[in-house]
Amino acid sequence: MNTSILIVGSVEFYATLLDRLHDLATSGFEVIRSANEVISSIQAKKPDVVILPANQANSLEVCRLLKQNSNLAWIYCILVSDQPINALEEILPGWNWESGLRAAALKAGADACCWLSPKQTNCRFGEAEWKLQNLLLNSQIQAGVRQVQIYRNLMQSNDYLSTIALADPLTELNNRRALDWELPRQIENARARSTPLSLLILDVDYFKSVNDTHGHLVGDRVLQLLSARLRYNLRFQDNPFRYGGEEIVIILSNTKLQEATLVAQRLNSLIADQPFMIDKNLALRITVSIGVATLKSDDDEQGISLLDRADQNLLKAKGDGRNRVISQEEED
Ligand code: GH3
Ligand code: MG
Ligand code: MG
Repeated sequence: MNTSILIVGSVEFYATLLDRLHDLATSGFEVIRSANEVISSIQAKKPDVVILPANQANSLEVCRLLKQNSNLAWIYCILVSDQPINALEEILPGWNWESGLRAAALKAGADACCWLSPKQTNCRFGEAEWKLQNLLLNSQIQAGVRQVQIYRNLMQSNDYLSTIALADPLTELNNRRALDWELPRQIENARARSTPLSLLILDVDYFKSVNDTHGHLVGDRVLQLLSARLRYNLRFQDNPFRYGGEEIVIILSNTKLQEATLVAQRLNSLIADQPFMIDKNLALRITVSIGVATLKSDDDEQGISLLDRADQNLLKAKGDGRNRVISQEEED
């Protein structure tokens, strides 16, 4: 398994851990001397597991920050103490240091806490205890890596499902569900920033006759070529959405009615002027009708009234003979 483990701490701490992590010799390690560097380094590297020295003053703080950051909270965080227990016993005799440390680590958000004391050569179980500690640390890391792997797989599936859920498979445009999600977001942004927002609805003229004359596969191809032509002729931020069969909505952010009308006229011409090459023997000329509307202060936040106004203008364009742009009337 390809894992990345970030070790934070002094060179001595790093050396102690390396000595104990035989099973994970192929993983990537890194020493960071100052704890202040930790969060930014974690942010940049996104490791699977972070190991921090439990006895370093700001380790608990790093741990807390990591778990409060929703983009980093999935990283498995292990606090490791390499302090000899005898030394601590001298500070506070009789206190259960191991449990106290574990409780503090878990409270700060650590996923695990391990204790590594030096090998005791004067005790019967010294060697066995040392091996047990190593086993526990290695197992804890592997448990963390497994957990992070599950999280990463889940995120990949999520990304894939979101792409499928929001894309139209035929045209590769965003679909109606994406529009339902994006339009309220754009309206909110436009209102928060006091910028204009316009919307176009475009419908292919007499598309049924394309299907009836040349078949549905040719109709499909026209929709693909039309969508590609639109995409290449719009600004990056002006995403087209497949609204219905041969209807496409384009949200024009930061665009006034007048500019939106010019964009619509440009799109109308670039579709009408150049035939669509279906194959080397078939070039089809098609036209579109477009309705334009701009956000008004009394429009609802979902964009229903805005869409409806653009749709009414599209209907007028159809009624007036097709292959044209009709815009919302300018407000006084
Ligand atoms: P108008 O100028 O009034 O818009 O006429 P129209 O023929 O374009 O409109 P109508 O609503 O009568 O027909 C739309 C056609 O679009 C009917 C439908 O079969 C076709 N259509 C919808 N989705 C697809 C698709 O994904 N592929 C193909 N090939 N045709 C589709
Ligand atoms: Mg049509
Ligand atoms: Mg239609």
